[in-house]
Amino acid sequence: MVIGRFAPTPSGGLHFGSLVAALASFLSARRQSGRWLVRMEDVDAPRCVPGADGQILRQLELYGLHWDGEVVYQSQRSEAYRAARDALLEGGLAYACQCSRVQVRTAAIHFGSEGAIYPGTCRGLGLHAEVGLAVRLDAQRVQGTDSVRFVDGLHGVIEHDVAADLGDFVLWRVEDFAAYHLAVVVDDAWQGVTEVVRGSDLLDSTPRQILLQRALGLPTPSYAHVPLALAANGQKLSKQNLAPCLPIKSPGEDVWDALVFLGEKPPLDLCGAKPTEQLHWALSQ
Ligand code: GLU
Repeated sequence: MVIGRFAPTPSGGLHFGSLVAALASFLSARRQSGRWLVRMEDVDAPRCVPGADGQILRQLELYGLHWDGEVVYQSQRSEAYRAARDALLEGGLAYACQCSRVQVRTAAIHFGSEGAIYPGTCRGLGLHAEVGLAVRLDAQRVQGTDSVRFVDGLHGVIEHDVAADLGDFVLWRVEDFAAYHLAVVVDDAWQGVTEVVRGSDLLDSTPRQILLQRALGLPTPSYAHVPLALAANGQKLSKQNLAPCLPIKSPGEDVWDALVFLGEKPPLDLCGAKPTEQLHWALSQ
């Protein structure tokens, strides 16, 4: 059984870019008679806006994107993330790190696609994981000599030497909660997700997540990263750059625009029709 998911961060309501990601994952799962889940990624509390989760769910309903089962909230899953972290620590695949961001930057010798690579100062010190210390994955140890390689449904073969380009990334934040990559990997496996369809802004995250799945002995779902809807100025549509909240036109026109954006060819007379009618058309293609 195919299980897809949409995993918004409730830092605001849905904008057109998130509608595209939701629709793409919904259509993919439903076309394979699969389940489609919604997960609120509210692990990083300061980034979340009270009420945004409810707003997102109402918007999904407005667009006819009905999910299966209960919505999972990452804020209620911290024990599972902690258990995964502890398993990695016990297995010697992760270590506690007391370096501050400034120390990491000043001690770095190598730089990769995301800036300073942590030089491994705390690796091997055997520090006890506690509040105020981050936990990092020992990327080289997990990766071994091969790069991480996967076939993306839209981008084809992707190969990334995570250990060399990103180094020992953070799994657990000093503020005492799971970093995004750990939470996503634990939840995708726990929810039995078999395919991840999401925006291509997350394409760079996938090799890290696959490495973590390897470290935790979890299955790797299939991945497809759909094009990002950009604002007129070429910037990513996001809450930070004030992308307008949906609906922008009418729900029927927004869904039609999102279908066209995804390369579907909905008939013109469906533009503005009820979202459920349009989704019905899309699923019959
Ligand atoms: N929560 C992430 C976001 O809103 C998406 C995570 C994912 O789809 O894996 O950008």
